[in-house]
Formats: sequence, C-alpha cells, structure tokens
Amino acid sequence: MARPSRLQREVGIVLARRDHGEADRVIVLLTPEQRIDVLAKGVRKTRSRKAGHLELFSKTEVLLSRVKQSWDIVSQAEAVTVRAQLQDDFSRATYARYVAELVIRFFEGETSRQLYDLVDATFERLETAAPAALLTRWFEQQLLALAGFRPEWGMCVGERDAELCREPLRPRPTDRRAYGIDAERGGALCSDCLARHRNERGVRALSPSALSWLQALQQRDYAEAASFDLPPATARELAQVMDRYIAHHLERRPSALRILDG
Ligand SMILES: [Zn+2]
Repeated sequence: MARPSRLQREVGIVLARRDHGEADRVIVLLTPEQRIDVLAKGVRKTRSRKAGHLELFSKTEVLLSRVKQSWDIVSQAEAVTVRAQLQDDFSRATYARYVAELVIRFFEGETSRQLYDLVDATFERLETAAPAALLTRWFEQQLLALAGFRPEWGMCVGERDAELCREPLRPRPTDRRAYGIDAERGGALCSDCLARHRNERGVRALSPSALSWLQALQQRDYAEAASFDLPPATARELAQVMDRYIAHHLERRPSALRILDG
C-alpha cells in the first residue's frame, strides 16, 4: 500500500484539467518550480468544497499529499485568483487554452520562476483589455526563449558555400525583397539565403514588416511592444508563420489553434 509520505503547500496555476474515474479530476498545475499532474478526488461531485477553487487558469493554493510512485493528491485547495473572464469570454478562453497548451507541450517536470511569472502575467493581461493576438505573439517569443528554442531574428541563419551567412537583418518598409523564416535552422533568412533555401522543409517568405515585429516582440517588454499598432495584415502573417514555426518544433499543431482558425 502506498502511504502519504508528506504534505506540501504549493501555489500553482491550473493549466488544464481532465476527468478521471467516476468523480475525480487530474489537474495540470504550474508552480514556480515544476509542472505537475495532481489528483483532486471527488471534485466532480456537486457538494465538493474543492471544486470552485480548481477552476481553469486560476491561481490556487493547494495542500498536496505526496504519495510515492503515485499521484500527488490535493488535500485542500483555496483559490488565490479566479480568472472568471477567461472562462466566460469564448475568444479570450481560447487564447488562454493556447497559452496553457504551449506551456504543457514545451515543459514537463522542473520549470522556472520566470516561466511561472510569464504565464501568470499573460493570463492577467488576457483578462483585461489587452489585445489578445498581440499578447499571444509576444508570449510565443518569450516562451520559445525559456524553452531553449529562442529563434534568431537578428542575423541570417542561412548558409552559403557550407559557411553560415550571419548577415545582420535590419528590415525596412522600403525593402523590395522578402526575407525568410527557417524553422529547421531556427530563425530568419536574408533575401539571398531565402532564394537559396526556398525549397527546403520549414522555409517560407517573410515580409519586412513581419520580421521587424518578430525582432520587437522578442526584444522588448510587453508594454513597449503593445505601444505600437500591429497592422492587421502583419498580424495575420505573424499568426501563420508562428503557427508553422511552433508546429515544426512540436511536430504537431496545438489543438487550440484549430478553434482560433474558425
Ligand atoms: Zn543569409
């Protein structure tokens, strides 16, 4: 018989939930140290006192019974912040699901305070009037960096004569030729390298405006990035190129994107 080894208090963000057995739920929790799956027993019963404290995207203080070689069990739960807007507003809920799904797909086990703070701040901004699409694009750049997949947008990642190109990329609205995005090499291409690598897997054209936005989203903090107007055409292009870029690295599209497409 497995015995509870110890009790541990944690504050975590509920990233996802799934039903388990007759009345239980598995909760995917992001704490400042780790991403863990924990078991909340009996929370699907109407009289459960824990249920309202384990809502999707909320920040919750939980008391966990750590059981060796089994699920950690939620003994108590007390919501610190309930993100009601993210449950009631369909569009914002879908963006929140996408944010949570990216975290789940890129991270397992040990995580970092930086990731926790990023997700917490992103859900908080999603709840307010923040432009959700721009916020999501900014989040993607920050998450990829924390996950060890930081794209190189500042210099060309292409190759010529078996040497790295490394040309500094300074996109301007007057540029007449497209740049490129190369998911396999992990960054942007100068116009010459786009022409050379065009038929390779994961390579696509990128407008000067989209490239300069990718540079800004990666380098600036959110408030600064959000102070510029994102033109609708560039917003659409960024959504498409980052969708493909991320799918390339995950080898599958995040399912929340299918809802955003509709
Ligand atoms: Zn190049």
